[in-house]
Amino acid sequence: MLIGLGLLLLALVLLIRFNPRTEFMLGGGLINLGYRLQDRLSSFDFVHDESITPEQVWKELERQNELAGGMRGLFPRTPRHPVVAVLACMDGRIDVSELVGDTRHYYYVVRTAGSVLSPAEQDMLELAVLNGVKVIVLTTHTDCAAEAAAVDPKLREQFPALISLMDERVKRVEEFMARPTIRDAIAEGKLLIKHARIDTTTDRLVVEVQHHDAH
Ligand SMILES: [Zn+2]
Repeated sequence: MLIGLGLLLLALVLLIRFNPRTEFMLGGGLINLGYRLQDRLSSFDFVHDESITPEQVWKELERQNELAGGMRGLFPRTPRHPVVAVLACMDGRIDVSELVGDTRHYYYVVRTAGSVLSPAEQDMLELAVLNGVKVIVLTTHTDCAAEAAAVDPKLREQFPALISLMDERVKRVEEFMARPTIRDAIAEGKLLIKHARIDTTTDRLVVEVQHHDAH
């Protein structure tokens, strides 16, 4: 009985060890098990407890970092060369690791409110291309607070810098695509730019076809 169980375990370990896909999928399963365990717990219930102070929030973050940093010291991660750059909104519900279904460090991530692309972010993405990025995914997402703010007269008045970038979102993307490094890399087939809208509740990417994709 014990020998049989041992053999079964050994077969399982070998199957996983020599099949990268199976190993990757098992890792994903275990990560999701971790989400199941942590997700329903609440450290900061702001709705019911407004007495939580900034200092308490910081202490909790510091304590968690202590644990996480200690773990990372025990189990170091493999350095990777990013091949994808993702532009995403800063919305806390979006998890880029979930978006790409991968926790390995193959991704540069630029996050801004409303996925706005000011000249500084354009520089960041261009730098990423010079560092070897082959795919850029420019995303927006459903139920975006910045999109809502852009059509709210009061908020338009309160956040003029963000709103003007929201109004110019399409223009800024075109401006980025027209940068010589980017334009040439696309023309030479070395760079692919994809546009997608994220379903915020599932992190699913819905790819959008843009007029400049046609040629
Ligand atoms: Zn957003």
